[in-house]
Amino acid sequence: MSAAEKVQRADNLTLDTIVSLCKRRGIIFPGSDIYGGLGGTFDYGPIGAELKRNIRDAWWRANVYERDDIEGLDATILMNPRTWEASGHVDTFTDPLCDSLGPSKKRYRADQLFEEEITAYEFVDVTDGEPTPIVGAKLWAPTKKKAKEFYKQYWEKHLNLEGRRVKIEEIAGSAKTAKYSPDDGGELTEPRAFNLMLTTHVGPVVESAAQVYLRPETAQGIFVNFSNVQSSMRRKVPFGIAQIGKSFRNEITPRNFIFRTREFEQMEIEFFCKPGHLCKEGEWTDEQWHEHWVESRMNWYYRYGIAKENLRLRNQAADELAHYSKACGDIEYLFPIGWQELEGIANRTDYDLKRHMEFSGKDLSYFDPEMNERYVPYVIEPSAGADRSLLAFVCDAYTVEKVRDDKRVVLKLHKDLAPVKCAVFPLLKNRPELVEMARNLARDLKKEFYTVYDDTAAIGKLYRRQDEIGTPYCITVDVDSLEDQAVTIRDRDSMEQVRIGLDKVKDYLLAELKKE
Ligand code: ATP
Repeated sequence: MSAAEKVQRADNLTLDTIVSLCKRRGIIFPGSDIYGGLGGTFDYGPIGAELKRNIRDAWWRANVYERDDIEGLDATILMNPRTWEASGHVDTFTDPLCDSLGPSKKRYRADQLFEEEITAYEFVDVTDGEPTPIVGAKLWAPTKKKAKEFYKQYWEKHLNLEGRRVKIEEIAGSAKTAKYSPDDGGELTEPRAFNLMLTTHVGPVVESAAQVYLRPETAQGIFVNFSNVQSSMRRKVPFGIAQIGKSFRNEITPRNFIFRTREFEQMEIEFFCKPGHLCKEGEWTDEQWHEHWVESRMNWYYRYGIAKENLRLRNQAADELAHYSKACGDIEYLFPIGWQELEGIANRTDYDLKRHMEFSGKDLSYFDPEMNERYVPYVIEPSAGADRSLLAFVCDAYTVEKVRDDKRVVLKLHKDLAPVKCAVFPLLKNRPELVEMARNLARDLKKEFYTVYDDTAAIGKLYRRQDEIGTPYCITVDVDSLEDQAVTIRDRDSMEQVRIGLDKVKDYLLAELKKE
């Protein structure tokens, strides 16, 4: 991931706004909420489950159905543990962990803390008039105000100083640029390597021989199936394998809502191609395939509505690259928390296949019939997070508009991603003929796309609800409908209304929903 960069979006959208919208509208809830939650887990509610499904479908459609060089796969989460020795995860899938030596004892990923100008502060007890320095009380902070906040939140209780009068004094000459605990101002321990893989056991006996890992990425399920897919589908290199599924990482500091969680979903492709040095004139090299995938993946985000100014490509510097990686382009999105990785597109060379050959003893090389020669393909890996994509799509779609003297919040999601495609309301719920007509219409539309019927509030409120979850069309059945057998369809973005005959509604919506 890029060195964190604090940048605010032009619209000043905050993550808190998105979190509260998601909770209010049934998109995302904290995981196991009634038990006080479980760090780094979130549950998708009825609207969020639909949105995520649509994102997965849009990805699958673009990469598997619309191309003719990709096959799909659904491999297991639990794999033979040798897989993770071969991939290098057992030895090297670590993050640098450090602890605050202050009273909070909080843990951090050392690479995610900022260096700042800080000064040391000490506490002096002046309760009895005679200033007495308090032993063991020294913290670091960028300002005195911050030092006081740290004191109030953690140190006062920890040192048992309640009821005493304490002065906080800057230690002259202590200023330096360094990392420190942003929670309590404590010094930090030296970083140590912490493996992010979560373990569990298979079989009835909990012993080390039965220990397996919850996969930390979906990629390895693809590598171990390379030959199965290639031979069963009679594929020639270049071709790719796509997979969507859950991955698990024991993140040290899960944070920023669904941006970094311990259980998440990945959408990954391993694209197998000929290594550049073996390519003939006119054949695409691994480097050209890499460029192709970067462009293709950027275009996918644009196609589904991400604004150009909120997406950028950042090529990793040589010293950031994983040891097996020849190049890696990170697609970054301007989240409310700043520019952060949305997807990584790496050129993994032949590292993974060769490692699996070594550890499994199986030949995973490919026989190229045109060259009449075997080689181990290179791999280009576009690796995206479904949850991070969802967060990006929601942030980008979030719009506040002034409507006369009021304002409305509307999620201008691409129609393919919108969780609910159409909502049907009777204008008056105490008129059984209107209710029946609206219910019948909704029932009919449900056969084509996700439609909801709602009569639980006044029409203005119903519109507001649907706007907030990005429903492209709302249909109102009114008193005139009984006469003219027509209804009013309101467009989410323009708020324009058209009157359409009942028998034409379905075709109208099907055509509108298809428009790019
Ligand atoms: P980071 O540096 O942010 O931890 P990474 O570079 O380790 O991410 P990859 O291993 O390249 O991430 O994973 C590919 C994609 O999977 C990421 O771009 C992201 O969208 C998603 N992803 C990775 N870790 C998480 C997580 N803990 N929570 C949610 N999504 C994640």
